[in-house]
Amino acid sequence: MNVNKKLTPMKEQEPHERRNNFFEVPLGYTKEEAILEASRCLQCPTHPCIEGCPVHINIPAFIKAIKEEKFDLAIDIIHESNLLPAVTGRVCPQEEQCQAVCVMGKVGDPVGIGRLERFVADLDLEKRRKGEVTVPKKEKDNGIKVAIVGSGPAGLSCAADLSRMGYDVTIFEAFHVAGGVLVYGIPEFRLPKAIVEEEISMLSKMGVKFVFDFLVGRTRTIQGLFDDGFKAVFLGTGAGLPQFMHIPGENLGGIYSANEFLTRVNLMKAYKFPEFDTPIKRAKRVAVIGGGNVAMDAARTALRLGAEHVYLIYRRSREEMPARAEEIVHAEEEGIEFVLLSNPVRYIGDEKGFVKQVECIKMQLGEPDSSGRRRPIPIEGSEFTIDIDEAIVAIGTTPNPIIAKTTEGLKVGRHGEILVDENLQTSVKGVFAGGDIVTGAATVITAMGAGRLAAKSIDRFIKGEI
Ligand code: FAD
Ligand code: SF4
Ligand code: SF4
Repeated sequence: MNVNKKLTPMKEQEPHERRNNFFEVPLGYTKEEAILEASRCLQCPTHPCIEGCPVHINIPAFIKAIKEEKFDLAIDIIHESNLLPAVTGRVCPQEEQCQAVCVMGKVGDPVGIGRLERFVADLDLEKRRKGEVTVPKKEKDNGIKVAIVGSGPAGLSCAADLSRMGYDVTIFEAFHVAGGVLVYGIPEFRLPKAIVEEEISMLSKMGVKFVFDFLVGRTRTIQGLFDDGFKAVFLGTGAGLPQFMHIPGENLGGIYSANEFLTRVNLMKAYKFPEFDTPIKRAKRVAVIGGGNVAMDAARTALRLGAEHVYLIYRRSREEMPARAEEIVHAEEEGIEFVLLSNPVRYIGDEKGFVKQVECIKMQLGEPDSSGRRRPIPIEGSEFTIDIDEAIVAIGTTPNPIIAKTTEGLKVGRHGEILVDENLQTSVKGVFAGGDIVTGAATVITAMGAGRLAAKSIDRFIKGEI
């Protein structure tokens, strides 16, 4: 068989254009491009790609359906395991998951599984817009109430599966919209909010109820939810508490956590100020601290808000950056200035209390640490400063402690993560947890996988099987 070794290219907005707007960067495959890419799949009998996907989508089957132009079949196959393919097709770290183990990767580029998933998901959304798609089939309502806390990918997946099983599901969400990090974290140019909204709207059509502006632990405790008649509770509250470096000057004006910065821009539409009344500083020289997806998103957002220089300061080298390879390339193309092997040691303020400089120290890499990456070691006497008028700290997040503090007997780990058993059951009877609140900051698809496993466990718990 003579198969094309190269990935079918996908059109993108040009870097000089996209750095000035918030529209999506990759533009998706046409039908012809999708069929061409699907024809690269070898339909391997061992299909390692399925194991590589955290929710085990039947990848060869959906790709075969695309090749045969059976697009409805392709989306049905994906939906069996994945509720939000338009989202995962865009943001999954495919290169570390399904595509990392694709057999085609041994002779050329792996099959563009994520791109194909996005293609069929977008076709499906188009059909939904025309009212051509019916709501997924459900079992008969059983009237048993289950509460889901948090509407991120973990909570949404858990809710969808329980609803399909016939449960009466209510999602309680602290914010005024559903989606968790998909709406307030990942920026519009990577994941358009309209797409997230459309994917989530299917849940309302299935009968899932949403209660917004409801902070569990404050508005109502977990015990309160049981008192209200809920028979089980799933906690999918994510890891939204920002970490700081605790270095001098970090309290100066103009220094944000990435979480606050991105929430202001994404959820509260600060980039449309004054049309939306959320203010945001329009800085000219911005330092972003960190090397993960969150740092890339913050840097590229700052650029789009009009910054002339965005410095991405990371303590290791480019090879160790945890961000997705595609996002690093996109950031470089757009002109983000990488300051590698460097770490901030203090911020220097002006007479009004606003940041005007960041002082950094150069680093060298030593032996690998517990993360398996080489440990960065400061080089004495190598300090240098960069003039800035804003800094965004993107060095990680931990779970918010509010639920653990208000729920008697709920066991948590060293970083505040909720401890669960193999069924995702917590130390409190009837309370399950999954997603970032358990694993710490991870990925959309692992959170969705956890939500699905928790739904199965909740069903077994209610039936008295566990
Ligand atoms: P979340 O998405 O965090 O959702 C938790 C929800 O619970 C939130 O809506 C929150 O408001 C709500 N909540 C919290 N506490 C309460 C409470 N007490 N009461 C009621 N509601 C509550 N992953 C990828 O796979 N690819 C990417 O490209 C990627 N990029 C990212 C970029 C950014 C900027 C960030 C921050 C994360 C990124 N991630 C990415 C990680 C991914 O988004 C998360 O791993 C995933 O969203 C976790 O899902 P979750 O459902 O566990 O939690
Ligand atoms: Fe790959 Fe993610 Fe899709 Fe699974 S959900 S097939 S890992 S892109
Ligand atoms: Fe197709 Fe790659 Fe999966 Fe083989 S491993 S079935 S080539 S997607």
